[in-house]
Amino acid sequence: MERKNAWETYDKSQEKKVMKLAEQYRQFISAGKTERECVRLTEKMAREAGYISLEEALTSGDTLKPGDKVYAIHKKKLAVLFQIGPEPLEKGMNILGAHIDSPRLDLKQNPLYEDGEMALLDTHYYGGIKKYQWAAIPLALHGVVARKDGTVVELAIGEDPSDPVLGISDLLIHLSGEQLQKKAAVVVEGENLNIIVGSKPLKSKKDKEKKELILKALLEILKEKYEIEEEDFLSAELEAVPAGPARDFGIDRSMIMGYGQDDRICAFTSLTAQLQAENPKYTAVCLLTDKEEIGSMGATGMQSRYFENVVAEVMNLTGQYSELALRRCLQNSHMLSSDVSAAFDPNYANAFEKKNIAYLGHGMVFNKYTGSRGKSGSNDACAEYIGALRKVMDDASVNWQTAELGKVDQGGGGTIAYITANYGMDVIDSGVALLNMHSPWEVSSKADIYEAYRGYKAFQKAEWN
Ligand code: MN
Ligand code: MN
Repeated sequence: MERKNAWETYDKSQEKKVMKLAEQYRQFISAGKTERECVRLTEKMAREAGYISLEEALTSGDTLKPGDKVYAIHKKKLAVLFQIGPEPLEKGMNILGAHIDSPRLDLKQNPLYEDGEMALLDTHYYGGIKKYQWAAIPLALHGVVARKDGTVVELAIGEDPSDPVLGISDLLIHLSGEQLQKKAAVVVEGENLNIIVGSKPLKSKKDKEKKELILKALLEILKEKYEIEEEDFLSAELEAVPAGPARDFGIDRSMIMGYGQDDRICAFTSLTAQLQAENPKYTAVCLLTDKEEIGSMGATGMQSRYFENVVAEVMNLTGQYSELALRRCLQNSHMLSSDVSAAFDPNYANAFEKKNIAYLGHGMVFNKYTGSRGKSGSNDACAEYIGALRKVMDDASVNWQTAELGKVDQGGGGTIAYITANYGMDVIDSGVALLNMHSPWEVSSKADIYEAYRGYKAFQKAEWN
């Protein structure tokens, strides 16, 4: 079964739309490099599209009616959007889910130290990374520092072209004979992912104060610029990410290279489709979750009860809530659990099985199952659901393909699909294929971004038997 390259199906005006959406996406991932930043962008876009917050809906005392749009945000890291449809909620919702956290280096709670005439920040990486990819590249520091008095400082150092950047050193090739004999997993070790942030000592007249003067100088800068003390690091969430904007990739500009495309590529396209949903029959939902890369745990991860609670709130606001109606609503829902897939990479062809791998430019990807070692941990969507989706996608002339992550027993991965499937709803893994997944600079096809967006739009309009 051969599937078409989407680019071959576009006329001039469609290609213009592809490029326009990709440029909006490029700006989105350049501005949204943490889950908090993505939530903020999401809220702004939602409000511009006529959404009100759940708190506003609750305080207004008005009933939510078909056509009404409401969003909820949890702990500034998770967002859910609803556009109420005319069908009773207990008939189910059409849910687009994706995650907005990405692999990165988090600062440790006690991160700052001085060594070898430098000030450094110690990190603990978040999500699965090849550690050696994070040395000798420019890094930016994003996040929040919460002071004891309840105030919160927000930082983003390294993105503005006039900003300094930070980074992790690597050993010079001349002395690397021993290092290069090591296995790639330990060439750069996790404990050595220390970010250099300064090298200029404080000028001290008194001899007895001549201790850790570089560190002291750095703390003075932090105090002056951000009014934070060393102890404030204890209550901070600071994330080191690759510095700089996403870029067009390829001489033909057909691709995007950028940080955090897993899974903001599915988040952005799902969100854009949700914001443009026109009179969906079933309540249309877009769920942008956190913590997927570390197992979906925590209050803002998919395993938390937050989503279920918000659905209960929304049902209540429409006057349709009962415990049984909520259970029916969740079980009767249909979901695209969107996450990135691996794109075939000719440099590493051996990792893939050619007829069951996604290709860049071949459109939106559907994965019946994920998991590893015999589909273990996988949701494995129902054939009947996939049959119905084939019709939805083909009727809307969406370019789409099916894929597995790689060869059998080559490895594997998980998503949030199995968690919402716990409600008994129909869920399938879908999304966009990437090259360089989980590396500092991931690559996607602009055609695939466009096709995912079109697929999500078609899904939000879908009607089920
Ligand atoms: Mn991932
Ligand atoms: Mn992912």
